[in-house]
Amino acid sequence: MRCPFCSADETRVVDSRLSDEGDSVRRRRECEVCGERFTTFERAELRLPQIIKSDGRREPFNEKKLQNGLSRALEKRPVDTDAIEKIIGRIRHKLMASGEGEVPSRQIGEWIMEELKDLDAVAYVRFASVYRSFQDLNAFREEVQRLQNEPSAETRRKQLSLIPEPETPSKPGAMPGRKPHAAGKKP
Ligand SMILES: [Zn+2]
Repeated sequence: MRCPFCSADETRVVDSRLSDEGDSVRRRRECEVCGERFTTFERAELRLPQIIKSDGRREPFNEKKLQNGLSRALEKRPVDTDAIEKIIGRIRHKLMASGEGEVPSRQIGEWIMEELKDLDAVAYVRFASVYRSFQDLNAFREEVQRLQNEPSAETRRKQLSLIPEPETPSKPGAMPGRKPHAAGKKP
């Protein structure tokens, strides 16, 4: 640690203490060149990343918003309210563990979909309808109806088929110019 007074590289720790909250370490250091003392704090960096909205604007992660979205999806569903808190906790954890400064809101949407898929089929479809935009209301109703009437294994399969395949980048090597003409057509 460089001395803030004389910029010397040689400083030594003369005292080290854990904060009352236990989340940081306070160190008293002394410069070996000019003899001045200064204090440093060390704490784990667990800031939540900024969320990149679909229009490109950034905003802080809003837990309340997430909670509202989940509550709406799970309204009148036989799901413990505790489950919502657990999902929020896991998503917070994923955000912090990502180590990213910014995370697209789309990513959070995907995480929520994963959570709801395991939790409640109807909530999953409700959320998907908002998040993925069903083409029309009837398609949405039919999907809900189908999910409710189907056995669970089948439900799972249908749920998965609800998710459109992500756009895959076109395969390299399939350039039209290089495509050989159909064999056997030559005179
Ligand atoms: Zn110094």
